[in-house]
Amino acid sequence: MATETTFDIVIAGGGTAGCALASRLKQGNKSLSIALIERGSDDHTNELVMNAWGRTRLEGAGLDTPYPTVPQKHMDDRVIKLHAGNVLSGSSAANAGFWMRPDRKDLDLWAGHLDGEEGSERWTYQGLLPHLKRIESHWDREGSDREAHGFDGPFKTRTSPELPLRQPIHDGLVSLGFEDNPDNLNGTPFGIGRHCDNWTPLRQPAAAVYDLSGVSVITNATIHKILLEKKYGQDVRATGVQLVDGRKFLASKEVVLSCGAYRTPQILLLSGIGPAEDLFRHGIETIVDSPHVGKTFFDHSGIFIPWKLDSAAAEAGLAMGHPKYMANPSFKGATPIDWMTIGALDPSALQKQLQKDSPTASISPTHPLLAHRAHYWLATTYYASGSISGEGMQEIPFDGNYITFSTLNFLPTSRGTITLSSSNPLDYPVCDPNYFATEHDRFVLREGIRQILRLAQSEPLQPYLSPTDQLAPTNFPPLSLSTTDADLDARVRRSAITIHHGMGSASMGKVVDAKLRVKGVRGLRVCDASVFPGPLSATPQAVVYAVAESCAEMMVGELA
Ligand SMILES: Cc1cc2nc3c(=O)[nH]c(=O)nc-3n(C[C@H](O)[C@H](O)[C@H](O)COP(=O)(O)OP(=O)(O)OC[C@H]3O[C@@H](n4cnc5c(N)ncnc54)[C@H](O)[C@@H]3O)c2cc1C
Repeated sequence: MATETTFDIVIAGGGTAGCALASRLKQGNKSLSIALIERGSDDHTNELVMNAWGRTRLEGAGLDTPYPTVPQKHMDDRVIKLHAGNVLSGSSAANAGFWMRPDRKDLDLWAGHLDGEEGSERWTYQGLLPHLKRIESHWDREGSDREAHGFDGPFKTRTSPELPLRQPIHDGLVSLGFEDNPDNLNGTPFGIGRHCDNWTPLRQPAAAVYDLSGVSVITNATIHKILLEKKYGQDVRATGVQLVDGRKFLASKEVVLSCGAYRTPQILLLSGIGPAEDLFRHGIETIVDSPHVGKTFFDHSGIFIPWKLDSAAAEAGLAMGHPKYMANPSFKGATPIDWMTIGALDPSALQKQLQKDSPTASISPTHPLLAHRAHYWLATTYYASGSISGEGMQEIPFDGNYITFSTLNFLPTSRGTITLSSSNPLDYPVCDPNYFATEHDRFVLREGIRQILRLAQSEPLQPYLSPTDQLAPTNFPPLSLSTTDADLDARVRRSAITIHHGMGSASMGKVVDAKLRVKGVRGLRVCDASVFPGPLSATPQAVVYAVAESCAEMMVGELA
């Protein structure tokens, strides 16, 4: 017979946010009984997880799940794989370790999605700052803004040692007009900043960093749905979760859903919380008609352009794969990136794109995307790989001959969906990020690519690169500054990739309120990247942790 076990709090999903939340709740109120229920195993200290280069083998080991998208209309109908961790620690056990903090304006806009609701100030830059500080041991104790950083938090961050092309890349960026930003992690990320990550060089997965003692961690346990109680004349109430094997974990106080941006909306839908017509199609009774569940999904996508080094530069061992580079002890375990450069785009050009996307509206110069925003990144990596360079790209040897330039669209306006493929909880949800559906998003990537081309052609990089030695997919010419918009768009359709930052599929203001409570249900919150109401000009993990810390603080206060 299926068992029933009761806890005060049941957290569904032991990922990045779930582990942080469970740990901080327990630390904040020792008397709470907490179940943390995770689909994957507890193998989060597996060598493949801990070692930066093991990441590519996680899928084969069952520690990572690739969620296929539907064919992407604006990407030559390509099916893109959206990876997510499938192990205690979630995607923090699978990610690339970039540790970034967004432009403060991005977070201030979050509160705007809450229409002045009580508690919305929690979701501003200043509101999240104590939590962003609390989680980090910032790498630059001496040189950074002390008001902006934490130095005793659980995540140790670091930057790379001086890699071989640091100075010419820097000087190339300066020639493009970028200025140095000595602290790009203080909410003002613009310009040339040091790249930062949270490797030591070993990974720091959430469950290894956050103390889970006293929390009942249940692994290899896949949740089917939230148990909901509907009594006449009363609000719907969450009473626990049911697993696919029939076991039930009941919550006397609250259930928190932390299954990540792909599975959280799926579980809400399977539980009868979602758009009534979608639920009807799958024979699921509508318990709460919540029209926005899964409807405001977005992701970061960008393009990685490989370049062959000049033969003398390659022979000097300037890139990864060359024996000289690999033998340098200070490069061992270092992330092969020197600079994270963040740029804003010309507002008048952007305004035209936004106008094309909304032909019947008048785009005001005060539109939030026209403020000085962090629209794109420019980065250089000391190796190249066919798999991140998009479809049709040849295999690229790991031999010290290649580097990669990349750009990323940080603030997409395209919105996609996560919907049900069936009522079977073991099936993948239907993931449609709807990449590059807007003129805005295509424009940002075109401009980012043009910045890459300017950088690669800049005088400081001339001794190391030949402009003609750029690699391109089969049947595509190398890109140049005279490549037309149409041809740049065609290349983006063929080569752009995701960097696995799914967000916003159960967003604040739409599906959850300012306290992350699911609207229309008592005793149920969402705490993970699904709740992000708008995109961020940063890789998301630091903000996911800060959201979990903030949620824990809120819950501990309420439960006192
Ligand atoms: C390959 C990759 C590279 C990335 N690189 C970076 C980077 O460099 N820097 C950065 O800042 N961010 C990066 N990210 C993004 C970042 O890691 C995620 O945004 C963040 O970890 C998401 O946290 P989360 O808590 O929302 O979800 P997750 O951490 O994915 O947690 C969800 C958890 O729920 C579990 N789960 C799902 N369904 C069920 C179910 N039915 N029952 C029980 N458990 C379930 C999952 O197994 C998982 O453990 C990367 C992500 C990936 C995948």
